[in-house]
Amino acid sequence: MKYRSTRGSPKLLTFSEAVLVGLAEDGGLFIPTNIPVLPENWRKDWSNLTFNSLALEIFSLYIPSEEIPRKDLEQLINKSYSTFRSNEITPLKKIREKFYILELFHGPTFAFKDVALQFLVLGATSGDTGSAAIYGLRGKKNISVFILHPHGKISPVQEAQMTTVLDKNVHNLSVEGTFDDCQDIVKNLFADNPFNEKHHLGAVNSINWARILAQIVYYYHSYFQLIKSLNITMESNAAKEIQLQFCVPTGNFGDILAGYFAKQMGLPINNLLTSTNSNDILDRFFKNGRYEKLKSENGKFVKETLSPAMDIAISSNFERLLWYLAYNDSKVQEEDKIKEVSKIVRGWMEDVKTNQSLIVEKSMLDIALCDFKSEMVSDQETLNTIQKYYAPENRDQISYILDPHTAVGVAAADRQIISPNTIQICLATAHPAKFSQAVEKALENFKAFKFESILPKEFIGLLEKEKKVVFVEKADPSLVKKVIENELDTELN
Ligand SMILES: *Cc1c(COP(=O)(O)O)cnc(C)c1O
Repeated sequence: MKYRSTRGSPKLLTFSEAVLVGLAEDGGLFIPTNIPVLPENWRKDWSNLTFNSLALEIFSLYIPSEEIPRKDLEQLINKSYSTFRSNEITPLKKIREKFYILELFHGPTFAFKDVALQFLVLGATSGDTGSAAIYGLRGKKNISVFILHPHGKISPVQEAQMTTVLDKNVHNLSVEGTFDDCQDIVKNLFADNPFNEKHHLGAVNSINWARILAQIVYYYHSYFQLIKSLNITMESNAAKEIQLQFCVPTGNFGDILAGYFAKQMGLPINNLLTSTNSNDILDRFFKNGRYEKLKSENGKFVKETLSPAMDIAISSNFERLLWYLAYNDSKVQEEDKIKEVSKIVRGWMEDVKTNQSLIVEKSMLDIALCDFKSEMVSDQETLNTIQKYYAPENRDQISYILDPHTAVGVAAADRQIISPNTIQICLATAHPAKFSQAVEKALENFKAFKFESILPKEFIGLLEKEKKVVFVEKADPSLVKKVIENELDTELN
């Protein structure tokens, strides 16, 4: 198993190399040379595995043991998830008949990105686990971490979680701009060869392959939890007849792309429901085959919503799906197919750069619609959904407090029930206390609701703690480079 660029560079990389460099040298994203198939008896053999053991099995399909010995991989996984507050790591909660919430927020920062980042960051920095693996960094004690975030555009808790880390080697840059500006700056830093070589950049941003890989695990884990919750066996007809839809609040298309890989590997998923907030480039794509950056009334590409982690103008992982759509649509013979497909992808990415849009053939959109459905959810509907799930009308439904991102997915799920037999699993991507403003706004008229009752002890006093953050007054790559070099000077002297 090796990794190739979506844009056709003939260079194939190992897993470790792909994870370390993040982005391919031709600007493409890494995808595996093939999507591995599941072992024949996966249903039986995997059904009682813990999250960690399941992760080991799935990672092993993508990472050759000659590259990272199984023992080392196992240690890395165990260490990664030891910081989670739930034994299940990602527990599945039944809300009502045929409707479940998959809680992905039991990691250190109370959001789903922990599932992948705990693995990736530890992987990149733990030379001492003896892993021969993610390790260009091995032995180097001096790893500096730079985190860019858009100034004032993340929730107060998110901001405090990052900026109250006072370690010398952690640097928060608060950039006057949007998420997309921050992503563009990171891309720019990577494309700057002298800068990249001088500092040996490694990216843990959303396009890193290891993040997608780590996220595949919870699709499987939730499936096994579901079978248990239904009190049926893996081999039963009842299990075979399940119609399963995953509902995923989506921004950069990383979380749901992991579901796509899970499905291509053989997990019986009927639909992946992409749910966007009013930054709806993906929803529009799935409706008309046109992927187009549009300016809103205020002349900006990004709208600020109640679900800020999904406020993006373009979805950085979408290029990977585009590659597979072109691949599955191509009639070209196998030897030339990869070249042909990469050429199409390059053309599309050029189109986005020059015309702010790309259009796919109807046949390709049809291929996408075999796996995906989509919805867009407004802020008002997000608030209504939080209310509706806090105080359910249905007596058999439990009361549940949704964070605004999760609510976007849940609202879409309520619209898109494919058949009466459909079982839905909605991914809960953050703890409600992390995005407290939206939750408090939604529930302000419920007298019984006390925000303190859902506040994790880790959040108490967080906002008042000492902070370490550098303000960058303009979303300008050369300014950011200057700030980084200044920071490094201070850190290392
Ligand atoms: C990042 C994030 C999302 C969106 O996930 P993508 O992989 O970018 O689609 C949704 N909700 C929360 C809370 C997030 O942090």
